[in-house]
Amino acid sequence: MRPAELPSIPAWEPVPGLYIVATPIGNLGDITLRALAVLQGAALVACEDTRVTGKLLKHFGIKARLQRLDDHASPETRTRIIDEARHAPVALVSDAGTPLISDPGYRLVREARAAGVIVTSIPGPCAAVSALAIAGLPSDRFLFAGFLPVKDKARRETLEGLADVAATLVFYETAPRIERSLAAIAELWPQREVAVARELTKLHEECRTGTAAALAAHYAAHPPKGEIVLLIGPPDEAEAPVQDTDALLRAALADAGPGKAAGQVAKATGIDRAVLYARALELKGE
Ligand code: SAM
Repeated sequence: MRPAELPSIPAWEPVPGLYIVATPIGNLGDITLRALAVLQGAALVACEDTRVTGKLLKHFGIKARLQRLDDHASPETRTRIIDEARHAPVALVSDAGTPLISDPGYRLVREARAAGVIVTSIPGPCAAVSALAIAGLPSDRFLFAGFLPVKDKARRETLEGLADVAATLVFYETAPRIERSLAAIAELWPQREVAVARELTKLHEECRTGTAAALAAHYAAHPPKGEIVLLIGPPDEAEAPVQDTDALLRAALADAGPGKAAGQVAKATGIDRAVLYARALELKGE
């Protein structure tokens, strides 16, 4: 959307306070009229990266005073922003989506509230919510858990810690890591329905659902690009209790090589053989 095509920005009485403003996650047409009004009227726009926000504002023909506020911001920087918000409207944006959702801002909001500054939200895009809205997984209860750890062991432990949560699990993920995450899920929960929502609101948006093993196989053959939300359906009441596949593999490895052990356990459990083979190699190397 070019500035010339914009509907007129609504009139807004600039009231002092801290405005938490959501911005598009890909499609600039998703900016809200209230977001534009606040960004235009703010005395200061605190942002994760001044270049990214500068570009966004330029697109909409808005000039604003920008102040970097990322996870490394000093307490003095936050105090200065809060002091300004006592007397004038101050906006907080992140590079994309809703600030504070796997993005900076938590400390600023907490300290602003403690200082008695009005904190208000200008809602809009959020990748986790958009993914949940289109994945077709139960949406009555969900648990958003941010990014999965990068290291295999930590990722596995995080997933295991969420095994009994009776809700759809929602994670942010990156394209280079999706295959390993899916393999870990396939090993723990072979029957659960999983969704991969990619490039939401952009030209190449897609949302694929299936078992983690099937999705891992798909992305092994078609390495994905772009930004990803990974969702895991809740445990089905009829689902067989989670099997200790490591114990089964270890027992099989006592008498067989990784290939044969993976084959035996795959036959007994229905878990994808390739996933078991990768784990058997890891266990053998321990
Ligand atoms: N605050 C943002 C929000 O409200 O969605 C999230 C910021 S977080 C640093 C960035 C992660 O969000 C990406 O790595 C990806 O997992 C997810 N994400 C952001 N935009 C996305 C999009 N258009 N499609 C899919 N996932 C997206």
